[in-house]
Amino acid sequence: MAKSKIIIIGAGASGMLAGIIAARNGAKVTIIEQKDRVGKKILATGNGRCNISNRKVSSDDYYYDSREKKLFIETILSQFTVEATIAFFHEIGIDIVEKEDGKLFPRADQATSVVSALLMELDKLKVDIVYQERVEKIEIASNFQIITNNKKYYCNKLIIAGGGCSSPVLGSDGSCFKLVEQLNHTTSKLFPSLVQLKTDYSYLKHLMGTKCNALVSLHSEDKEILKEEFGELLFTEYGISGPPVLQISRVAGDFLNRNLKVYIRIDLVNEYSYEQLEELLINRANRIPKRTMEQFLVGFINSKLIIPILKTSNIDIHKNVSDMTKQERKEILKNLKQLTMKVTGTMDFKNSQVTAGGVEISEIEHHTLESKLVKNMYFCGEIINVDGACGGYNLQWAWSTGFVAGNASS
Ligand SMILES: Cc1cc2nc3c(=O)[nH]c(=O)nc-3n(C[C@H](O)[C@H](O)[C@H](O)COP(=O)(O)OP(=O)(O)OC[C@H]3O[C@@H](n4cnc5c(N)ncnc54)[C@H](O)[C@@H]3O)c2cc1C
Repeated sequence: MAKSKIIIIGAGASGMLAGIIAARNGAKVTIIEQKDRVGKKILATGNGRCNISNRKVSSDDYYYDSREKKLFIETILSQFTVEATIAFFHEIGIDIVEKEDGKLFPRADQATSVVSALLMELDKLKVDIVYQERVEKIEIASNFQIITNNKKYYCNKLIIAGGGCSSPVLGSDGSCFKLVEQLNHTTSKLFPSLVQLKTDYSYLKHLMGTKCNALVSLHSEDKEILKEEFGELLFTEYGISGPPVLQISRVAGDFLNRNLKVYIRIDLVNEYSYEQLEELLINRANRIPKRTMEQFLVGFINSKLIIPILKTSNIDIHKNVSDMTKQERKEILKNLKQLTMKVTGTMDFKNSQVTAGGVEISEIEHHTLESKLVKNMYFCGEIINVDGACGGYNLQWAWSTGFVAGNASS
């Protein structure tokens, strides 16, 4: 049988994996990358350490709103599992170690080592990489004609691995959505995920840069808790950031897109119940009655939080602790356990780690990732309408889909 001649658009995580698998299967592979190097985004992952996957990966770590989508995710993940991913990287020289919450990292703790190993393997397999050319049009005749800003390329199989819209400075600028829409594919609504949230809290300027551990809950207008996460919270000039905020941002973005109101509730003293905290505040007031209210919480919470909590509780910061009323104590208690602010938006794609939305899965064959609309064209990575939580899940999606598209096309 004649060798498949495959072009892959995008040398990110999924495109490189697809290229390796297809070339191992005997295909002649060319990858076209608009940046001057491969895997730019991988270099930024896991704060430069590359959280390559997660031991606990399952379909529930991705967002799905239908049984069909859950099944689609499972079908892909089962073809290139976490174990297979570890074995693949081991084979190309990357030893993997497990850290907290099942997170997997290269033993060297360097994302550069992952990119170097993938590049060495592509080189060994004689995969051509065209750098600094941007694919601007795809034409279909008896084969595919891939038109870049510089040249025309031909192939009989095409893999679209151009990523989403997140962190465009690293290459994924959303241009591949336009390319496939010209071929009649549908892109669902795109919005930033794993991103910081903007809130309406009045004391953000005062709190900017303050970090503290907290239970952060997202709730709807009727007070239903939509998602909650514990971790290090960071107050910023525009709102809140930090790992728990990124994790809940997907649900917040989804609600805001549907014009639904969402609120953040921060529990700054999660280790205490309401009753325990009440007792603790009474005790504290009895111990230091001559202090001012401004001094009351010194040594109990981060000092930057004291004025905002007291002002939100409508308390005169100059009065003595002994003059605090029961109602005022209850207000402080409420704001320590349930500091509430309205979410006014998310930060944009520039700041986000992943793109929610993408090419509709109903237009993609579940077992092969081949387009149902354009024969011999395949998708892999973030361009597909699947996104996961923070913790190695999005790279696992890139590896698994890269494997499936590379294998099925060759
Ligand atoms: C700061 C940051 C940290 C992250 N940390 C983690 C983490 O620790 N763990 C994790 O699992 N996930 C993490 N992610 C998410 C993860 O990196 C991505 O989901 C994954 O890299 C997507 O892979 P991809 O191959 O689909 O796309 P990308 O890696 O975005 O690659 C797409 C490539 O296609 C190229 N391209 C696009 N359009 C064209 C065109 N028209 N012509 C030519 N080339 C084109 C781009 O230049 C780019 O190189 C992080 C993301 C960011 C931004």
